[in-house]
Amino acid sequence: GKGAAMVTAVAYRLAVQHDERQRVLDTLRLSREQLLDVKRRMSEDMERGLSKQNHEQSSVKMLPSYVRDTPDGTEHGDFLALDLGGSSFRVLLVRVRSGKGHNVDMHHKIYSIPQETMQGTGEELFSHIVDCIADFLEYMGMSGASLPLGFTFSFPCYQTKIDQGILLKWTKGFNASGCEGQDVLTLLKDAVRRRREFDLNFVAVVNDTVGTMMTCCYEDPQCEVGLIVGTGTNCCYMEEMQNFERVEGDDGRMCVNMEWGAFGENGELDDFCTAFDHLVDDSSSYPGKQRYEKMISGMYLGEIVRNVLIDFTSKGLLFRGKLSERLKTRGIFETKFLAQIESDRLAMRQVRSILQHLGLTISTCDDSVLVKEVCSVVSRRAAQLCGAGLAAVVDKIRQNRNLNQLSITVGVDGTLYKTHPHFSSIMQETLQDLAPQCQVTFHKSEDGSGKGAALITAVACRVKSAEQQ
Ligand code: BGC
Ligand code: MG
Repeated sequence: GKGAAMVTAVAYRLAVQHDERQRVLDTLRLSREQLLDVKRRMSEDMERGLSKQNHEQSSVKMLPSYVRDTPDGTEHGDFLALDLGGSSFRVLLVRVRSGKGHNVDMHHKIYSIPQETMQGTGEELFSHIVDCIADFLEYMGMSGASLPLGFTFSFPCYQTKIDQGILLKWTKGFNASGCEGQDVLTLLKDAVRRRREFDLNFVAVVNDTVGTMMTCCYEDPQCEVGLIVGTGTNCCYMEEMQNFERVEGDDGRMCVNMEWGAFGENGELDDFCTAFDHLVDDSSSYPGKQRYEKMISGMYLGEIVRNVLIDFTSKGLLFRGKLSERLKTRGIFETKFLAQIESDRLAMRQVRSILQHLGLTISTCDDSVLVKEVCSVVSRRAAQLCGAGLAAVVDKIRQNRNLNQLSITVGVDGTLYKTHPHFSSIMQETLQDLAPQCQVTFHKSEDGSGKGAALITAVACRVKSAEQQ
């Protein structure tokens, strides 16, 4: 009868809507072949980046870090470290004691950097940093002490020595004027000089990946890779000097700061990019840049999700087709919300209350289910892409050493990696699948980037004093 026809019509409409949503989500799902492609393209780009002839053409910059030696246990002393470019800015005092059992003591203070300062002038930014150092020294009762300082500066820097780093470009939320093309230690020294209060002994500029790797190899000598999946993403690893054609010398190894977040800037990811990736890229501070990072890291995942939800809503597939002002607001889905929504321990009712807390009015239970599915499709893709890149890295190390099997440790840090309930397991699954000849252990680092800068500074001081004798 009529009733039955209506039920059929409703069922039919629901089925059509379901298909429509899945068709959209399918664009965000990657096949094994596609992931293998990502791995292969990453490998090619790494080769290019290392080469003498073609490194200009590579999107992955493969920057020399001038970190070649690991701690040998004899270094000791007090060191200052600055950690800029992650989710918080920190000043640290690190006490390194020599001897077995490697002893490191740390004190730190977290400072906020207002948005206006991140995007103001370089002078303002670096003066603010120096104000924080002054505050920290006073807080530690060490005003006036001129300690050796290591600067973890988590942006792409071109280095020709350990105590210099030319900022190539800002990434993440930073955009202070007058800094690109400048040596960041000189900018910092100038700011210290302007304050005329104390002096510092600048020893090293360090990328956060390199600091994380160094901290981890202090405990586990098998650690030769550093990985960050936080606000941004990047990777470093120990490369043979012989392969590192851009850098003088053929002996031993050097840590390469890959700057893999830039992968895709030459179109390597175009085949996999969706309409949502283009929207996120277009409305970012640096369109066309950091394409891989924009598909993986915490600063952008929430934006991808939000754009999918807007699409669904405007097609009448979600929120009863009502596009709220809230949903149109950039940045509402922070990493921590994604992590919460995807937690398996949460009942749908709790997902709903998170969304309500975000200001999104959920009309039906299906809405919460759908939002959760969108989050999980987007974060799964991120973890898989990251695993594919990592597969290229560990396989490169294995091939460098002519090994059939490689056993290696990766030091990891970053809020997304650490707080997301599934990111690390999906990434590892992908890695194992795409680099089956490598047994990879992951070592989560605690405060790795700052501590690592201090350790690198300690090693540099040890090497310097040995040279002077
Ligand atoms: C920067 C890298 C950094 C990474 C993780 C990227 O945006 O370019 O230098 O290592 O973020 O913090
Ligand atoms: Mg950090």
